[in-house]
Amino acid sequence: MKRIDLRSDTVTRPDDAMRRAMASAEVGDDVYGEDPTVAELEVRAAEAMGMEAAVFVPSGTMGNQIAMQLHTRRGDEILCDSLSHIANYEMGALAALSGVQPRLLESKNGLLQPTVVRDAVVSDVPYQSRTTALVVENTHNLGGGSVYPLAQLAELVELAEECSLKIHLDGARIFNAAVALDCPVAVLTRGFDSVSFCLSKGLGAPVGSLLCGSAEMMVEARRVRKMLGGGMRQVGILAAAGLLALRDGPSRLAEDHRNAAFLAEELGAMEGIVVDEVEIRTNIVLCRLQAADAGRFAGALAERGVLAIPLLGGRFRFVTHRDVSRSDVQTAVDVVREVLREVSAG
Ligand SMILES: *Cc1c(COP(=O)(O)O)cnc(C)c1O
Repeated sequence: MKRIDLRSDTVTRPDDAMRRAMASAEVGDDVYGEDPTVAELEVRAAEAMGMEAAVFVPSGTMGNQIAMQLHTRRGDEILCDSLSHIANYEMGALAALSGVQPRLLESKNGLLQPTVVRDAVVSDVPYQSRTTALVVENTHNLGGGSVYPLAQLAELVELAEECSLKIHLDGARIFNAAVALDCPVAVLTRGFDSVSFCLSKGLGAPVGSLLCGSAEMMVEARRVRKMLGGGMRQVGILAAAGLLALRDGPSRLAEDHRNAAFLAEELGAMEGIVVDEVEIRTNIVLCRLQAADAGRFAGALAERGVLAIPLLGGRFRFVTHRDVSRSDVQTAVDVVREVLREVSAG
């Protein structure tokens, strides 16, 4: 039985070209700044993001957390939406590593409204912690792959400037947003102090993310990365795969988006499933079962080779990526329909 893994775009495996590039990569000790392949990746990444410099990190979590360490002091408060990755899926690192507390804001599908942000900023109250940073997630994972409209993004950037907040973009899937809006990535990073993005998701690399920002900030970022145990040595082996992911990955994300739209449409037409509405569809589909138990349902799907992630409250996440074709998605749809029928038959 073929496994159709729709749990996440992190499950993509390096293809033959990546494996060849990894095998022949020129390498050196990157803690000494001597790995030419890493250096090239960092230049390309900074260029793509429209930032001065970049630092290669093992994970998106480390990229986000280094940024928070640099943008805050202990006891500060940061603003993020209540569904954000940085507050929900990073092991309490904001508190554990930087000693800051997140203020979790209401949002629509993870997308922050500037007025809600403005009302939450505390600057000069002698008995309240200072708000020093704002984190924006684009595309938004638990928001169903939602994408910020350009105007809303620009307003948040402007607001951060006005309120003297550092503004960080958790752009794990920023290329998905750029493809969905049909604009260069650098347009979506404009005005941000820092950006992190993942090579290891839809772009297809096995490991790695980049933190990007000013040259000055990236010098400090390297120090914090080492402190966190993220100083890697002959890591050009991974950067070689990352270079291909960065060069070739973005252009095929549109296919993932079409597959997700197809999946959303098919699931939405089924009795017993409600699909989350998002304005612009990228590669994530969230849905809710009306009756059946999500855990058992996921188990029944898995028995037939279709993997999805059950979330809280009877919800599911399906993610399309380069290792699932349209016909795989069609098969997954057929399996979901079959399992639903069985469940409703008792
Ligand atoms: C995946 C992801 C990250 C980083 O995850 P890692 O597993 O640490 O690489 C950060 N933010 C968002 C929104 C993500 O989806």
